[in-house]
Amino acid sequence: MKPTTVTLPIYMDHHSTTPVAPEVFEAMRPYFSEHFGNAASRNHQFGWAAEEAVEKARAQVAHLLGCKPAEIVWTSGATESDNLAIKGVAAAYREKGRHLITSQIEHHAVLDSCRRLEREGYRVSYLPVDRSGRVDPADVERAITKETILISIMAANNEIGTLQPLAEIGRIAKRHGVLFHTDAVQYVGKLPLSVDDWQVDLLSASAHKCYGPKGVGALYVRMSKPRVRLVPQMDGGGHEKGRRSGTLNVPGCVGFGAACALAERELSTEAARLTALRERLRGALWTQLEAIHLNGHPTERLPGNLNVSFEFVEGESLLMALKGIAVSSGSACTSATLEPSYVLQAIGLRDELAHSSIRFGLGRGNTADEVDFVAAEVIENVRRLRALSPRYEMAIEESGLNAVQWGASGS
Ligand SMILES: *Cc1c(COP(=O)(O)O)cnc(C)c1O
Repeated sequence: MKPTTVTLPIYMDHHSTTPVAPEVFEAMRPYFSEHFGNAASRNHQFGWAAEEAVEKARAQVAHLLGCKPAEIVWTSGATESDNLAIKGVAAAYREKGRHLITSQIEHHAVLDSCRRLEREGYRVSYLPVDRSGRVDPADVERAITKETILISIMAANNEIGTLQPLAEIGRIAKRHGVLFHTDAVQYVGKLPLSVDDWQVDLLSASAHKCYGPKGVGALYVRMSKPRVRLVPQMDGGGHEKGRRSGTLNVPGCVGFGAACALAERELSTEAARLTALRERLRGALWTQLEAIHLNGHPTERLPGNLNVSFEFVEGESLLMALKGIAVSSGSACTSATLEPSYVLQAIGLRDELAHSSIRFGLGRGNTADEVDFVAAEVIENVRRLRALSPRYEMAIEESGLNAVQWGASGS
């Protein structure tokens, strides 16, 4: 049954960005006009008010990550956090060694930072992942050499939602005395975490992926055991204890802090709610459609992520057919190109299946009615597009399979 109560368009692309939560927006509001001071102005009330707000926000971010406020460096977003972590560590430790370890499914902010380092004479190991998108910690350990200065492995993948075994990798990094960075953009605010549980030394986060504003991020940098050194990538007035110069985005920082406080209050109930919604969507698709495949790990995945390949259907065609529903095909970043997503290639998906994939990104605003509506629309359009596909007809005829058998094979 397709619910008639939903309002279009439906946003189900929360891995790309999220709306600013109303309470976050209210917290930010006074810092655009009334309290417009520069947090670095030490001589008057305007500056003090801004500084106080920024420090409160820093403590809110730190609390969510389980670290000290002084270990948080404000940035312009996670792209900058990733760049600062990787290039900053590489420059600071170049006399120790010039080898880094990462995975093939990292965000471009990590992969392209590594590529640049390669052009500057560093060596980078890009570890493969298994069919569910997981890095094998044993591969990390095998890749470590005397030259290794940094391991960078993401907490959760932005396309397929797979969670990485970070605590195991953290133990290995510690044992070998190698610094450990994680891009935790998709994880922060979605599932509980602590930098000490993971034993990470650096962690990237972004406000706009967890109901905060765009254009503000944070980098956690461990201050003791070990004290991580960084060569700043932005020179100027020496803000953020010299780690990142530039006038702080005060409303942005306040918004990120408020988003972290909100996440902390609602995280566990919201994670359970989203997991239930995702399973509702999965249940509807899997009972009504044959020849569909789940991309990513069946259980070790982000609560709001469902990535599905619909065999015999072009992802782009399905996307176009789903009018009024915002989802992504392949990867949001590469969907302008015809190359299949490198993440889907890395989990061993053949091109045809990679091209038929849709990423559903559930979030705070989504309801069960919306899930039912989206499921009904997807089912209807997949059936319609398949009916137009000679390849689907041929496959059915050749295999002699019926819909039920297809369904059983479509894991
Ligand atoms: C969105 C995203 C980034 C980039 O964050 P911005 O704040 O938009 O620069 C980095 N890594 C991952 C995994 C992301 O999903």
